[in-house]
Amino acid sequence: MIGTGILKGMAVTARNFVGSYFDKERLITVQYPEERIPLPENYRNFPILIYDGEDSQAGLRCVACKICEKECPPQCIYIVKSDDKKPDYMGKPQFYPKVFDIDISVCMSCQICVEVCPFEAIKMDKEFELSKRERFNHLLSRKEDLSKPNEYYHKIHPVEAAAVDKNLADAAAAAEAKKRAAAEAAAKAAAAKAAAAASTPTSESPSAS
Ligand code: SF4
Ligand code: SF4
Repeated sequence: MIGTGILKGMAVTARNFVGSYFDKERLITVQYPEERIPLPENYRNFPILIYDGEDSQAGLRCVACKICEKECPPQCIYIVKSDDKKPDYMGKPQFYPKVFDIDISVCMSCQICVEVCPFEAIKMDKEFELSKRERFNHLLSRKEDLSKPNEYYHKIHPVEAAAVDKNLADAAAAAEAKKRAAAEAAAKAAAAKAAAAASTPTSESPSAS
């Protein structure tokens, strides 16, 4: 029947309107900005760069590989790779982004940069109060503005960040085990070579008479 949908919709509205006087759960509007509804885990807005440790630049996970820059559909990421390497927070020498800008007036929050990053270096922020008076420079987020500690990532996406930490810890443990196994194999090979050299008679060895 024509209009059934409208009647059903109005019934839902009326039920919630009356119910809101008795049940706080039915109060679906809040007095923003004084009151805020917690954002869901997978809410996302614009990208941020994650760093580990205390130093926001030395601890950046980004190694300036530029994969995200190439894959970003509207091409709103701009990276300049460093000429030198610096130790990351684990002491491993890495390239780093000398410049890392994201034009958030162009970014469409698609999260492709996050999906393609092999280093868990770029993640999506939940910050949405970003209105600015200026159209250009003020909407260009620089590396320093984009850098956020891993603790912040845990605060905004706790489930996802815990899974990322576990993956990174597993990868580090696997790399460590591989390094140890290679060192043990090299030590064994060196010992075997030394033993073989010791048991081979040389021309200077005294001959049995
Ligand atoms: S979220 Fe999408 S549009 Fe925005 S920087 Fe990442 S890849 Fe580009
Ligand atoms: S954010 Fe990730 S994909 Fe982008 S340059 Fe840095 S390491 Fe590479």
